[in-house]
Amino acid sequence: TIGRSLARTVEAFGDREALVDVVSGRRWTYAEFGADVERLARGLMASGVDRGDRVGIWALNCPEWVLLQYATARIGAVMVTVNPAYRAHELEYVLNQAGISLLVASLTHRTSDYRAMVDQVRSACPALRSAHYIGDPTFDALTAAADSVTPGQLAAREAELSCDDPVNIQYTSGTTGFPKGATLSHHNILNNGYFVGELVSYTEQDRICLPVPFYHCFGMVMGNLAATTHGACIVIPCPSFEPAAVLTAVQRERCTSLYGVPTMFIAELNLPDFASWDLSSLRTGIMAGSPCPAEVMKRVVAEMHMAQVSICYGMTETSPVSTQTRVDDDLERRTGTVGRVMPHLEVKVVDPVTGVTVPRGEPGELRTRGYSVMLGYWDQPERTAEVVDAGRWMHTGDLAVMREDGYVQIVGRIKDMIIRGGENVYPREIEEFLHTHPKIADVQVVGVPDERYGEEILACVIPRDRADPPTLEELTAHCRERLAHYKIPRALRILTEFPMTVSGKVRKIELREGYGA
Ligand code: ATP
Ligand code: MG
Repeated sequence: TIGRSLARTVEAFGDREALVDVVSGRRWTYAEFGADVERLARGLMASGVDRGDRVGIWALNCPEWVLLQYATARIGAVMVTVNPAYRAHELEYVLNQAGISLLVASLTHRTSDYRAMVDQVRSACPALRSAHYIGDPTFDALTAAADSVTPGQLAAREAELSCDDPVNIQYTSGTTGFPKGATLSHHNILNNGYFVGELVSYTEQDRICLPVPFYHCFGMVMGNLAATTHGACIVIPCPSFEPAAVLTAVQRERCTSLYGVPTMFIAELNLPDFASWDLSSLRTGIMAGSPCPAEVMKRVVAEMHMAQVSICYGMTETSPVSTQTRVDDDLERRTGTVGRVMPHLEVKVVDPVTGVTVPRGEPGELRTRGYSVMLGYWDQPERTAEVVDAGRWMHTGDLAVMREDGYVQIVGRIKDMIIRGGENVYPREIEEFLHTHPKIADVQVVGVPDERYGEEILACVIPRDRADPPTLEELTAHCRERLAHYKIPRALRILTEFPMTVSGKVRKIELREGYGA
C-alpha cells in the first residue's frame, strides 16, 4: 500500500528533504513529513473517517494537499480530487456523485471564495458531514483531534487494507466533455508512480519542481508518488502556474527535474527575461498531457539543460502513464515519439472497428492492458464497460502509430480527426508543421463544418508578436511546399490564448464551437 511504501522511504531517508513550499518557505524532512502524515491520519480517524469513505480535496497546490494524499491512503479512505476551478454547481455534482463525507478546501484564490461556495451547496449535499479549510482553525482541528486515536489503532486499520482497495477517485481533464471519475487502487497508482520515477532515474538526490496541479494525475502520481517512492524531494513553486515563479523556484531550490504540459514550457521559454535564470541544476523532467511539439522539446533540451527530459503518454484511467521515453533515448525518439511501453504493461494499435492489430507504421486506436487499468469509473459501470473490454484492455480513444522500433507516436484523438472531402486529416501533423513558422508562438488546428467538404481546416494561432500576426496568405504560402493541398488550413483565427482545462489542455471543442459564433 501507499502507507507501507512511505514508511520504507521515511526509514531509509528520514533526514533528507521530502517537501518544500517555496512561497511560504515551509520545509519537511521525510521524518517530519511521515510524522505529520501520521497525525493527520489519526485526526481523520478521530473525525470518523472509515475505510472506503470518500474524502474530498478542493485546493490549489500546497503542502497540506500532499499530507492529505498520504494520510487518506494510510487509513484506507478514498481521496477524491476536485478541480480547483470548479464553481458551486460543479462542486455540488462531485460531492454528490462521489458521496464525499469530509471535504478539505482552500479558503480563497483569486475570484474563488471556496468557503462561500461550500456553504451555498451544503444543504443539497446530504453526505457531506464536515468541511475544513487550509490555513484556518477548521483544518487545525483535524490534527488536534489526533490525540484521541492511538498509533495502535492506526496500525490496526492499516493491517486491514489491501493494495487492491480504491485509494483515489481522480477526474479526467474534461477536454472532450464532462470529466469522468476514475477509481484507482493503491496497486494502480503506486506502481505507476514508481516506474515513472525509475525511468527518469530518480534517487534521493533529486528535487522535483511541480507546477502541474496536484488535483490531476500528472501532479499526484507522476510527481508526488514518483518522488516519495525514491526519497526525492517535492518542490511546490506556486499554488497555480506562473512561469516566472517556476523558474525562480528551480534556481533557488537547485531543482534537478521540472514538470509541465507543453503550454507551460512554452510560457517559460517565452518569458522576455528567460536568460536571467540559472537553470543549470536541471537534468531531467517530464512533458506530457497533450501533444509535445518537437520544436518545444528541442528548446527544452537546449535552453533548459534538460538533456534527459522525458515524454510520457497516458490517461487518468490508466494511472496514468502507458508509454515513456528512456533517459538514454536520442533526440529523435525524445522529440518524435512518446516513448515505448512501460514495464509490466501491454500496448497494441488496432483497427478501432474490428479490434484487429494493424501493421507497424499504420495508424489505429491505442489500447493498453495491465496493472494500470482503473478499477472503473466511480459508480458508472455502463460507462466503464464502454472503454474497458472483457479482456481488460483499455480503449484509449487515441490514434497512434507503433513504429518498427517499438516506439509509439500519438497521432491525435479519434474525436479530433478531421474528415475533409473524404480525406482523413490529423490536426497534430499540421500543428507540428505550423510550429516551424517564425510568427507563430502556439497553434491549434481543428475541423469546422463546411458545406462543400463536410469539414474545413481552421488554424487558431497565438502570434509571437501581437502587433505582427501572420496572415492566411502567409500561412498558405508556408504550407504549400510541404503539405498536401487538402491539409492546408483554409481559415485562420488569431487569438491571445486558448480555452484551457486546469490541467493545461486546450479544449478544442470550444475552438470549434466558438468559430463563426
Ligand atoms: P476527458 O477524458 O475528460 O475528455 P482528457 O482525456 O484530456 O479529458 P486526461 O485523462 O487528463 O483527460 O488526459 C488523457 C489524454 O491526454 C489522452 O487520452 C491523450 O489524448 C492526451 N495525452 C496525454 N499525454 C499525451 C502526449 N504525450 N501526447 C499526446 N497526447 C497526450
Ligand atoms: Mg480522456
